[in-house]
Amino acid sequence: MDKNELIEKINELKKKKNAVILVHSYQRQEVHAVADFIGDSLALAREAAKTDADMIVFCGVDFMAESAKILLPEKKVLLPSEDAKCPMAMMANAESLREMKKKYPEAVVITYINSSAEVKAESDIVCTSANALEIVEFYKDKKIIFTPDKHLGNYCKEVTGADIVLWDGYCYVHDEFSIGDIYIAKHEHPNCVLLVHPESPKDVLDIADFIGSTSQIMRFVDENAGKLDEDEGFIIGTEVEIGKALQKKYPEERIYNLAEHAVCTQMKRTTLEKVYESLMEEETEIFVEESIRIKALKALDAMLELSEKLGSK
Ligand code: SF4
Repeated sequence: MDKNELIEKINELKKKKNAVILVHSYQRQEVHAVADFIGDSLALAREAAKTDADMIVFCGVDFMAESAKILLPEKKVLLPSEDAKCPMAMMANAESLREMKKKYPEAVVITYINSSAEVKAESDIVCTSANALEIVEFYKDKKIIFTPDKHLGNYCKEVTGADIVLWDGYCYVHDEFSIGDIYIAKHEHPNCVLLVHPESPKDVLDIADFIGSTSQIMRFVDENAGKLDEDEGFIIGTEVEIGKALQKKYPEERIYNLAEHAVCTQMKRTTLEKVYESLMEEETEIFVEESIRIKALKALDAMLELSEKLGSK
C-alpha cells in the first residue's frame, strides 16, 4: 500500500473502532498525517484524560502510552511500535528511588513524565517540561528530589533557587547539544534567535535566547513569525522534527535546526504501516499493574490539577 492508501485505511479503521490517534510532536511527519491530536507530553496527557474514544493509539514512546493507561484504565491503549522505549525513562527505577527517599525522608518527589509507571508510583507529583518550573516553584520551600532528568532538574534549581537533589538521568538527544553546535549554527545563521529545550546541558541553556518545552518553543515561533526582519530567523534546539514542522508551517521564515544529530530514534520507530497494523490487530496493548497504577495516578492527577490551577501552557 502506498502512503495515501494507508492513511485512508487508518482513517476507516479509526472510525470503525472508535479510536483516537494521539501523536507526539517528535513523530515522523507521515504519522502526523493521521493524528487526531499532536502535542508534547503535557498536551497529550490532557487530551488522553478527556477522550471519549474506546481505544487510544499512542504514537510516541512507552511511558506516554503507559501514562494514558494510568489515566484511563478502562480504555484499550495501543503502542504501535512495542520497542519504542525512552532511554531516559530507563535511567530511573523504583528501587533506587526508594533508597533515595530513605536518605531524604522529608523531600517531595517530583518526577518528570518521561519515567516508568513504577517510578511515578513512588513520586508525589509528576511534571512535564512545560510545567516543571511552576511545579518546582510551588514546592520550593521544601527539599525536592527531582527525577530522572538532571538537566531539567538543574534548570529548575537555578531559576527557582529550590533545594533539589538531582537524579543522574538525561535525554541523549538533548544532552548531545554542545557549544560547538551553537557556534556553527550562529555562524551559518547570524541574526537568528536560539530557542532550546530545558533537557539540554547548562552551558547550552546559558547562552540560549529562549528556553522552553516543545510546545512553548512552537508557540514562541507562532507569536513571532512574520514580525522578524528579512535577515532574522529561528534556530530550534530540540528534536529535528520540530524545526521541520515549523518550516512547513511557515515557509517564508528562516527556521533552522540547531543540529541535525538531534534525532530521537525511538520516536522514529513508529511508521504509518505500524499504525495501520496496530489498529488492525489491536496491538501492542499496554497494561499497568493495578496497585502501581493507582499510586502513579495520584502523582499524575496531582500534576494535572496543579498545572490547571497554575495555568501552565
Ligand atoms: S527525545 Fe529524549 S526524552 Fe524524548 S523519548 Fe527520545 S530519548 Fe526519551
